[in-house]
Amino acid sequence: MNENMQLLRERLQEIRDLNAAAGLLYWDQTTYMPPAASPARARQMATLRRISHQKSVDPELGRLLDELDPYAEGLPPGSDDAALVRLARRDYERATRVPSDFVARFAQHRAETFEAWTRARPADDFALVQPYLEKTVQYSREMAGFFPGYEHIADPLIDFSDYGIKVSILRPLFAELRQGLRPLLQAIAKKPPIDDACLRQTYPVEQQLAFVRELVQHLGYDMQRGRIDLVPHPYTTMFSIYDVRLTTRASAELLNEALFGTIHEAGHSLYDQGIDPAFEGTPLARGASSGVHESQSRLWENVVGRSRAFWTFFYPRLQQVFPDQLANVPLETFYRAANKVQPGLIRVNADELTYNMHIIIRFELELDLLEGRLAVADLPEAWRERYRRDLGVVPPDDRDGVMQDMHWYYGSVGGGFQGYTIGNILSAQFFNAAVRAEDEIPADIERGEFGRLLGWLQENVYRHGRKFDPVELVERATGRPLQLDDYMDYLWKKYGELYGLEK
Ligand code: ZN
Repeated sequence: MNENMQLLRERLQEIRDLNAAAGLLYWDQTTYMPPAASPARARQMATLRRISHQKSVDPELGRLLDELDPYAEGLPPGSDDAALVRLARRDYERATRVPSDFVARFAQHRAETFEAWTRARPADDFALVQPYLEKTVQYSREMAGFFPGYEHIADPLIDFSDYGIKVSILRPLFAELRQGLRPLLQAIAKKPPIDDACLRQTYPVEQQLAFVRELVQHLGYDMQRGRIDLVPHPYTTMFSIYDVRLTTRASAELLNEALFGTIHEAGHSLYDQGIDPAFEGTPLARGASSGVHESQSRLWENVVGRSRAFWTFFYPRLQQVFPDQLANVPLETFYRAANKVQPGLIRVNADELTYNMHIIIRFELELDLLEGRLAVADLPEAWRERYRRDLGVVPPDDRDGVMQDMHWYYGSVGGGFQGYTIGNILSAQFFNAAVRAEDEIPADIERGEFGRLLGWLQENVYRHGRKFDPVELVERATGRPLQLDDYMDYLWKKYGELYGLEK
């Protein structure tokens, strides 16, 4: 083995270890940490992040990569070492191109903005955050400026989470999606609303958790390499391929949160647990991008977890756990309730169809802000206008309007939202590719067997980790680039049948 490769692995492993330790502190903060520990915990996490950042921008690491370039160029294109050098180089460039005083100023500004947002949102006082958000737009533009040569100013910001996916790909794709969704939503609006009262009963939280714990293990989540805990805002976190933790929440009045929220996070977890163990400790041991990661949470949550086939198997079990609530509710009533479409104001509560409209609205507003075509002062009105036009609902205040999500008040403006809808689109594209390869998969799901589907996803997506760039991974796995056909077919077929529509 190349000696410098060994050195590179050791250096990268150190950075990963520090980040994993910081991640574990964060996990603890959101699950079991006593409240008084907050200030000390913030300092401990900052210390670890600072040391990890120093190691990421160490000129020694740069020299090592320079020395490795000729070796990497001589390797066959599909080699793991070549991918490792390429990704280590990309991460190093990203970390070093942005001057450290900018990093510090922007971090300080983000902390202040977030603090202002936590006060402004409950008070419905957009004027309070407006000057902060104006500065954030400037910072975001400045950030993009450290990566010259882009087509669109948002491209470098999108690259951080969805490498290689550009505005020139997304703008037409999302426009086409909106065009496709509109007639579907209009047709559904003319139909009588689905009754979802069966999901809105009293469901003891402990029993819900016991049920979803069984369910995600049935899907393939490995509890020897993971665990499940409760948090207010669920997420999945990975400290190594051998420790992928899922968090969830549950409401005693609404079954959806624990049920579909846990399947969603299990999708993220199955991806991370499925990465090739040979990649452990390297930058390859991650998902390919935020969009590809989200495609797996959505595939399991929506395409599989909200299907009739899935509940054909699991519903009798759910009825056993909740006989008082569900014994007299037929499967079909439950299935329809789980897929009710209703335009609303809140992104995180949105159904499968309208969710994309929430994202497209945010994405387009971000581009307008970055391009200087929209002033922050005019953002609240622009928000209301888009909601009126695309969803037919208008927020009565800015709290549930422009101040709804923390993304713009916690990070940059640009790059934070597109992954959700890319994930939705890809969920159908990956699923169809799996079914083309293994036509037994739909029948498997009805029998509660998921090994064949999981196996295909592991072989074609999960095991590769971050080895292939997302654009290449999608082509390799599905035989075509990111495109809407599979997703629109899936939506029309499912919701056309649910609501009795004709295309
Ligand atoms: Zn997710």
